Amino acid sequence: MERPVETIVTNVRGTETVLAAAARSGTRVLLASTSEVYGKGIRYPFAEDDDVVLGPTSRRRWAYAASKLLDEFYCFAYRDEVQLPAIPFRLFNTVGARQTGRYGMVIPRFVRQALDGEPITIYGDGTQRRCFCDVRDVVEAIVGLLDRTDAPVQVYNIGGTEEVTIRELAERIRAVTNSASPIVTLSYDEVYPPGFEDMVRRVPSTERIRDLLGWRPRHSLDDIIESVVAYERTSQARSSG
Ligand code: UDP
Repeated sequence: MERPVETIVTNVRGTETVLAAAARSGTRVLLASTSEVYGKGIRYPFAEDDDVVLGPTSRRRWAYAASKLLDEFYCFAYRDEVQLPAIPFRLFNTVGARQTGRYGMVIPRFVRQALDGEPITIYGDGTQRRCFCDVRDVVEAIVGLLDRTDAPVQVYNIGGTEEVTIRELAERIRAVTNSASPIVTLSYDEVYPPGFEDMVRRVPSTERIRDLLGWRPRHSLDDIIESVVAYERTSQARSSG
């Protein structure tokens, strides 16, 4: 998803405001960051202290990652300068029931398309790979971080580790829903602004949060798909009933 410039600037200003207020009251902060900051990635799985490789500033696509990087820099500046514990965590493809497909999120989109008998739209050639994480697992990880007031101030990845290609994902959703939808491919030029670069692969290393909390995702990709399908089926029934 491309974010308008205003959103990016507001994001960083908002973080600054929150951190300044937290510093005044000495309140610990958790900051939601994103796997987007790894950009093109230098190796797999993505570990928190890896270098990051973003594209050029002329491509708006990288602005969101840059704004979240600034947020993270702010956290460490507050840690070092005023000893405020401000902990960034990076989310990787979080999915679950009630997520809207309106902003491009692939699983709710594919499920909706499959249930409606519409073409399932793969962008690019479908070989790009992702690890999806159920929102229920993500919430558990975040609450775990909140509760561990002694957690070291560093970045934590939160994500699933079960990798899937987008084509496999389309096929699995089509099978689970018993859908007759055709699976079609659309070129990036047709669906994204010019110059958009998709992430070929995105895999988190989750060792750090596992070591701290003993956390690991409990829901498989099949569980995730099932919960989104169940939700979309009820909302379909509601809107047609
Ligand atoms: N995608 C797709 N069809 C869609 C929506 C998304 O093939 O209808 C692809 C998208 O190009 C990306 C992947 O699915 O490669 C995951 O997209 P999403 O927007 O869910 O998350 P992202 O990983 O891009 O943050």
